Order: sequence, then C-alpha cells, then structure tokens
Amino acid sequence: LQYVKLEDEPARFVAIVRDITEQQRHREEIEHLAYFDPLTNLPNRSLIALRLENCLRNCAESGHYGALMLTDLDDFKAINDTLGHRDGDQLLVEISNRFASVLGDRHSISRLGGDEFLVVVTTPHRNYQAALKQAGQIADQLLAAAVLPSHTLGEAPPLSTSLGFVLFNDDSISASELMRMADIAMYDAKKKGKNSVSLFDEIMQKELVEEHQLTADLNIALSAGDEIVPWFQPKVDSTGGFIGFEALARWHHPERGLLGPISFIELAEKKNLIVALSDQILMKTCRQMRSWREQFAMDDWTVSVNISQSQLAMSNFPEKVANALAETGLPASALILEVTESVIAENIDVSIQQMLRLRSMGVRFSLDDFGTGYSSLSYIRQLPIDELKIDRSFVNTLLDDSETRSIVSVILLLAEALNLDVIAEGIEQEVQLQALQELGCSGFQGYFFSRPQPPEIILETLKSYYRRQ
Ligand code: C2E
Ligand code: MG
Ligand code: MG
Repeated sequence: LQYVKLEDEPARFVAIVRDITEQQRHREEIEHLAYFDPLTNLPNRSLIALRLENCLRNCAESGHYGALMLTDLDDFKAINDTLGHRDGDQLLVEISNRFASVLGDRHSISRLGGDEFLVVVTTPHRNYQAALKQAGQIADQLLAAAVLPSHTLGEAPPLSTSLGFVLFNDDSISASELMRMADIAMYDAKKKGKNSVSLFDEIMQKELVEEHQLTADLNIALSAGDEIVPWFQPKVDSTGGFIGFEALARWHHPERGLLGPISFIELAEKKNLIVALSDQILMKTCRQMRSWREQFAMDDWTVSVNISQSQLAMSNFPEKVANALAETGLPASALILEVTESVIAENIDVSIQQMLRLRSMGVRFSLDDFGTGYSSLSYIRQLPIDELKIDRSFVNTLLDDSETRSIVSVILLLAEALNLDVIAEGIEQEVQLQALQELGCSGFQGYFFSRPQPPEIILETLKSYYRRQ
C-alpha cells in the first residue's frame, strides 16, 4: 500500500495486488520434495529425524515412553530382480500404504530409501512394561501387514519384513544412537529367520559398548602400527614342497591377547578402518616375503593377501599395491590377491577394471572360498582371475559325501579348462590330501601341513626344512 495525498484531494491509498499462488505452489512442492519420498509420499529421512527429535523432547518432558522401529523387507532385492523394478516400486507403494494405515496419525513412518522404513511410535505410558506391550503390538501389526497377499506379487511367495525396535523415555540417548540400536535389533530379527521382531536389549547394549571399545582400540593399534601383523600359512605342492604362503591378519591386543581376523576384520570394514589396516598388512607382507625369497633363493614363491571390497573399490588401490611392491622390492609376480565372489560382485564392473589394472602390472588374483558363493560359469569366465581356492567346506566333507567328490572333480576340470591354478584349503588329514591328489588337485593348504604361524616360527621351519634337503 502506498499512501498518496494530492493537494485539494482526499487522501488515498494505492495498492498493488499480485497473484502468487503459483510461486507458493512451487515453494510447497520444493518443501515437499525436501521432506517426502517421491515414490511412496512418506516422510523422508530428514523429516523423520525432525520428528524423532521432537518426540525425544516430548518424552523427556512428559516421561512417556516412545519407540523407534526400523523395518527392512526380507529378500526384497531378489523380488525386485525377479519382478522388475516397476513392480518392485509398486510393491513398495502398497506396503507403505499398509504400514501407514496401521500407524494412523499418532505415529510417524518414513521411508529411509530402498526397502527400509523407520517408525516413531509415541505411547501414553510412563510404565516400561505397558509401553513395551503397546510397541510390541504395533510391531506385530506391521509384520502382519507386510505378509498380506498382493496382486503385484502374482505367484511369488508373500513378502515379509524384519523389525527391530528400541524404547526410550528421555533424551539421554541421541537420535543417531537410537537409530544404531534399532538397526542392531533389526539385524537380530533377520538372524532369527526373518518375519520376526527383536527388541534392543541389554545383551545388545553390552555388545554395542564392546564394539565402541574395540573400535577405539583398533584406532590406537593402527596408529601404533605394530599390533596388527600378518601371520603366514604355507601353501604346498603335491610333493609337499613350499610354493608360498597366505598372509592372515592377527592382532596382538594389549589386553585381550592374540585376536584372529573374525574379531576385527568385519569391525574394521564397518568403521572404515579396513583400508588403513590392509595397507599395513600389505606392506608388512611384501617386506617379509621379499626377505624370505632372497634368504632361501626361492624366486617362484608367492604370497597371497586377502583383500576386501572397500579396498578393491578405492580408485588408488592399484597405485597402493604398486607402491608397496616398489618400496619393498617384491616383484609383482610374487603377489597374489585373494578376493571372494561377494567382494567382486558388490560392484562387478569397477572390480573388473581394478583387477585388470593390477593384472597388467603382473599381480595375480585368486578366487577365495570358491564354491560357497553362487557364481555362474559365464560369470567366472568373465573374471580376470588366475587361481581358484576350493573352500574348506568341500575338503571337510570330501570323504563322507560322494556328491562333494563330484563337485570337487568338476571344479578341477573347470580350472583346467579355463587354465586356472587350484589350491584346496583346510586340509587337516592325510586321507583328505590323498583323496584330493587322486582327483588331480596339485595345490594345498591346511593345518595338516601347518597352521598359520608368526614369521619367526615360519623362518625356523624354513631353516630346518632346507637344512634337511
Ligand atoms: P580365508 O582367506 O579363507 O583364510 C583361510 C582361513 O582358514 C584362515 O582363518 C586359516 O587360519 C583357516 N584355516 C587354514 N587351514 C585350515 C584348516 O586346515 N582347518 C581349519 N579349520 N581352518 C583352516 P583365519 O586366519 O581366521 O582367517 C579367516 C578369514 O579372515 C580369512 O579367510 C580371510 O577372509 C579373512 N582375513 C584374514 N586376513 C585378512 C586380511 O589381511 N584382510 C582381509 N580383508 N581379510 C582377511
Ligand atoms: Mg584367503
Ligand atoms: Mg578361504
């Protein structure tokens, strides 16, 4: 409005009017996009985070319990792959609608992406048991809603979902910690065999604390640089002669003593420490191997190093390997990198590119735990690998199971046809060795020959072995 007063005339206002409906609509649309999932129209991660913060504050004030639930559809990837993405999306929309109608207006649900949904439940209870009962009922209703029949699924078996939840009645635990707890409970539900519910409980709490502690220790170990070291397990040929070693990580934990890789490799992957850890293992392994090859004048000994998915995915991984080889003086032909099918499959095109770059340097690849994944024959042919490592589980059952025998001999034929080396791992008894030799296998590894040992012990063994010869 503009006030206008002209001489001899009454005062007046001049007004300018503009229709901003369109702009307003755009703004709302943008806001909607920022806070809602375009596929299901449910709130997204950002909005649910705000609502969770709100709920935490309210609970802290009122003393009422709330619950955070994380649910993840079971085997949805497989369903998506069989039905195609359009029907997969359609299913997600159906499920979202069912979940939303179970929850009504009192509670909030959001889609975190993929087939994961996060639910914030508010209860009117100050009593833990009463709140637990209500949350449990809601969880059961969500599970029941997931398995309802759907046209989209056609003949396929019904969907199911796994759900983990955690209760809270104040804001002493942060939203992100609650998410982590619900996540742990959800994985527990998956482990129980899908279509089930788990509550984040004291045991999980203890494990979480342990994990925090071990992660802190791992960080210290990695900066100290001498706690995590490779041990070595010999690989032998059919005459029992050494052809090389596999490096297996061990952690000399200052309080817990010697730890094997199951206690820390997965943790290192989860906490983004695996690259730092593997860099140390690779460097130490190359240095050790170079020294043994020289000391015993064994130019054809190789050393195998296990690598994980995040390493292979790093664009500078080939340079790192080149660097380790250059710095230690180990020739590339002495290094074999062991990958599992799942490591490669995570991102197959990038993996193959990386493997090709490394192979052009002369480094070789071995497919570890072979036979336990679900590789197709054409898939194997496509992979730039030089060796198959027959998994321990086959060697275990070789003697009592004729089918295993057949599988192993097919693997050996396959390797021959594709011109790949073979190592059978996990040989514990002489009879297993004989059976494998009869089938034509010529590379072996296992406790029968030697357990993984620290370098000092390996050195003693090598010395006495070569003195005898
Ligand atoms: P893997 O590469 O399949 O290694 C073979 C595992 O089988 C080793 O366990 C070895 O000690 C064990 N083993 C060897 N011979 C026998 C046998 O005759 N009988 C039995 N029962 N077991 C045998 P370990 O050292 O506990 O390693 C477990 C896994 O941890 C390895 O499986 C590998 O996947 C991973 N790993 C080890 N070191 C590293 C590393 O530096 N980096 C990465 N990313 N993973 C590693
Ligand atoms: Mg291995
Ligand atoms: Mg293996």
